[in-house]
Amino acid sequence: MTCDCLAPLNTATILNVKIHAVTHAQTLKLIEQFIACRQPHQVVTVNPEFVVAAQTDQEFRYIVNQADLALPDGIGLLKAARFLRTTPLPERVPGSDLVIRLAELSHQKGYRIYFLGAWAGVAEKAIAKLKESYPNMQVAGYYAGSPTMSENEVIIQRILPTHPDILLVAYGAPKQDKWIARNLERLQVSVCIGVGGSFDFIAGTAKRAPRWLQHMGLEWLHRLVMQPWRWRRIWNAVPRFSWLVLKERFGQSIPNS
Ligand code: UDP
Repeated sequence: MTCDCLAPLNTATILNVKIHAVTHAQTLKLIEQFIACRQPHQVVTVNPEFVVAAQTDQEFRYIVNQADLALPDGIGLLKAARFLRTTPLPERVPGSDLVIRLAELSHQKGYRIYFLGAWAGVAEKAIAKLKESYPNMQVAGYYAGSPTMSENEVIIQRILPTHPDILLVAYGAPKQDKWIARNLERLQVSVCIGVGGSFDFIAGTAKRAPRWLQHMGLEWLHRLVMQPWRWRRIWNAVPRFSWLVLKERFGQSIPNS
């Protein structure tokens, strides 16, 4: 799947999952390169929960490892890369920050963005919020839809005539990434990105952790307090991920969990 329009990127490998060692600024340049090359590209926003899921979901691991761009969306990945002495990851590139930067890029350069996913009404609210800062952002369209097979064709037929340059898919991982992988060739959209709960954060229907907590690597704690029903996902993202990384580093000297 990997496109030959760019030079190979520095890559960290954490528990057999590849993550590209890129900064915010490099990410935006690469996305512009993808648009200029006019071939479809898949971008994934990897966090520790992705890495844990990819240990047992082989289809998901294949998709992440084949993505044209796998962004480091999680402070835990930066720490794990250092601890495992793989290629260092220079900074965190979170999906929701990327959506805002892409809105700005669209405002400046006229790229057309399609917003797919999140519950009904959320994408509209996110678009309205983004337009307050970036009034010339070009919206190709928006639709909540669902990642189920029964809706697949309806969604494709909605997107195709709108000719977006960038398609943001907010169905959460791994559904959004599987949805993109399944439809990438038919859609022929230059940049397709799975963006998780980004529309909710931008619309204000979900609250992100304050910057200082994010910098301390404690965004998970904020999520646990705000959305306690997600404890199983947070368990995977924090203690389980840390345990797997420890086992990877020290190998057989640690007994199985
Ligand atoms: N979602 C959706 N349809 C579905 C499942 C999820 O539109 O069938 C949306 C949900 O509304 C949310 C996003 O997918 O906007 C997933 O958010 P979540 O916080 O779970 O993603 P994360 O950022 O943790 O990957």
